[in-house]
Amino acid sequence: MENILSEFKSKNQTAIAKKSKYSKSRIADEIKAKFLQKYQNAKTELNYSNIYELLVAVMLSAQCTDKRVNIVTPALFSKYPDTKALSQAKLEDVSNIIKSVSFFNAKSRHLIDMAKQVELDFNGNIPTNQKDLMKLKGVGQKSANVVLGEFLNLNYMAVDTHVFRVSHRLNLSSSASAIETENDLSKIFKDNLNLLHQAFVLFGRYKCKATNPKCLDCFVSEFCISKQNFKPK
Ligand code: SF4
Repeated sequence: MENILSEFKSKNQTAIAKKSKYSKSRIADEIKAKFLQKYQNAKTELNYSNIYELLVAVMLSAQCTDKRVNIVTPALFSKYPDTKALSQAKLEDVSNIIKSVSFFNAKSRHLIDMAKQVELDFNGNIPTNQKDLMKLKGVGQKSANVVLGEFLNLNYMAVDTHVFRVSHRLNLSSSASAIETENDLSKIFKDNLNLLHQAFVLFGRYKCKATNPKCLDCFVSEFCISKQNFKPK
């Protein structure tokens, strides 16, 4: 997961991480309270009006910006308003609509296959539990958790590049994979995981960016073990 782990290789930072006078769970509680206060009712920036549209948008957003996805989805949803229509779509037609999105060929195949599965195996209804969502083509644990947390307000953490970066900079996880980081955050925070996911995404996207984070305007800088890597901005 990106180069974020290289930020923590110096002995100096390991020492900083261990030196804290507070217990890790107390620090996590403080961070959690601050994020929930700062990002009340945080929502995805993907545009959607029902669970089908959300699932499609989330599938398209893998390794692509929400902004880019929001540009292509109006035409896609207009031509294919539900899984029935999408299940009968031609691959080249879907590809043509979403061609500005990363990995559009693979994503087009996954979208059509997902729609066929929903029609055949789930009576045309998008599943609303993690196990069944993850049976769908192109839907991994992260995507399933985003849909469940966003649409149904269920207590699921999802770790994308922003959540991974922020949680490591705040010393909430030192795990090397997204799934392990998800487990760390779920154990440490326990509840409000869906809200914290969206809050971390927004914070990572606009403040704690991969390069040139806005450390001078950071409401959790006291907990950060990375800030000395960046020039104050
Ligand atoms: S101090 Fe800077 S690097 Fe640390 S969490 Fe805040 S914005 Fe991110």
